[in-house]
Amino acid sequence: MNNQLPRTSVMYQALLNKDSSFEGIFYVGVKTTGVFCRPTCRARKPKFENVEFFPSFKLASDNGYRPCKICKPENHDEITPPWIKILITEIENNNSKKWSDEEIKLMGIDPTSVRRWFKKKYNMTFLSYIRKVRLKYALNEMKKGESMTQAAFAQGYESLSGFIDAMKNFTGKTPTKSKNINFLSVDKINALLGPMIVCAMDDGIYLLEFEDRRMLKTQMKRIIKGNKAVPVLSKHKFISQIENELNLYFEGKLSEFKTPFKMTGTEFQKNVWNQLLKIPYGQTICYEELAERIGNPSAQRAVANANGFNSIGIVIPCHRVIGKDGNLRGYGGKVWRKKKLLDIETSGINKNKI
Ligand SMILES: [Zn+2]
Repeated sequence: MNNQLPRTSVMYQALLNKDSSFEGIFYVGVKTTGVFCRPTCRARKPKFENVEFFPSFKLASDNGYRPCKICKPENHDEITPPWIKILITEIENNNSKKWSDEEIKLMGIDPTSVRRWFKKKYNMTFLSYIRKVRLKYALNEMKKGESMTQAAFAQGYESLSGFIDAMKNFTGKTPTKSKNINFLSVDKINALLGPMIVCAMDDGIYLLEFEDRRMLKTQMKRIIKGNKAVPVLSKHKFISQIENELNLYFEGKLSEFKTPFKMTGTEFQKNVWNQLLKIPYGQTICYEELAERIGNPSAQRAVANANGFNSIGIVIPCHRVIGKDGNLRGYGGKVWRKKKLLDIETSGINKNKI
C-alpha cells in the first residue's frame, strides 16, 4: 500500500501547508479522533505521531476511520485538481511542444506534483503520457496525408528511426502500418457515485464503467480487440459530453442521453442491449420479461449474462432489470449503486411532475 504514497515526511509537511497539489494523492487518518481528512482540511493539524496516511478514501474507510465533517473527503475522492485539467488541455492543444520542467513551471505548475499525479492516478509516467499524445498526433497527421518524415519532425522527433521505434513500442507496428489503427481515448471522470472510466472514438463512446468494477479489465480488452484499437489516455469531445450529461442525470435533471455510443458484442448481446434501451427512465422490468421481449423466454440465463456484459453502464440501462420478487439482484457496478440509480430516476420523475 505504501508504495502508492509519497514519503511520510513529505505528506506530513503537505498536511501542515494545506498543500492542494496533494489533493487526491493521500488521505490522513487521525488516530486520536478516528476521523480522516483531505490534505487541505481547515481543522487543527494533528501531531505527527497521531497520523497515518492512506492512498484512497476506501482504504482510510476500510481501516475504520470516519470521513471528517469539515473537509468532507467523501466528496473529494479522485478529485482532479484544476491545474491538471489546464495542463492536459494545453498538451492536447499544443501537441508538438516539448514539455520540459521549465515550460511547466512557466504555467505556475510544479513539475513534481505533475509526475506524482500521473503516477498515482493513471499508473503511468508523465513522460510516457506525453510520448503517446505525440505519437497519436503524428499518426493523425499521416492519416490526413502528411508524409512520415513530415509528421515525425512536426512532433519533435529528431530522427526517423527514433520515431519508428517509438511507434513500434506504442502500437506494435511501423508508422505506415499503424495508419489503420483506431485510437481509443480513455479517461477517468468523477461521477457522483464514484470515479468512472470512459472510452471513446470518433463515432461515440464505447465504454462507461465504474472504476472499481471487477469486469473492467476484461471489458477494456474486449473493446480494444473487437475494434482493433490502441488505447491512449486522452480527452475526447464525447467524453466531455457524457460527463456533462451524467452530472445532470445524477441530479435527476436528465432522462435521456444524447452522447452517441457504439456497442461491442455478439448479435445476441446487442439484441439484449437494444431491448434495455427501450425500458423507460424510472421503470424496471424483470429478467423473465427481458427474455420474453427478445423473443426467447427460455433464455433467461443467457439474457442475464448479456445484461451483465453491458460495457456502457447507465446509458444502456442494465440497472433497470431486477428480480421478479422486486429484489435488485446483481449489478456489475455494485448493488448499492443500482439502488441509488433507481432512486435517482424515481425522484427525477417526481421532480419533473412538479
Ligand atoms: Zn478534515
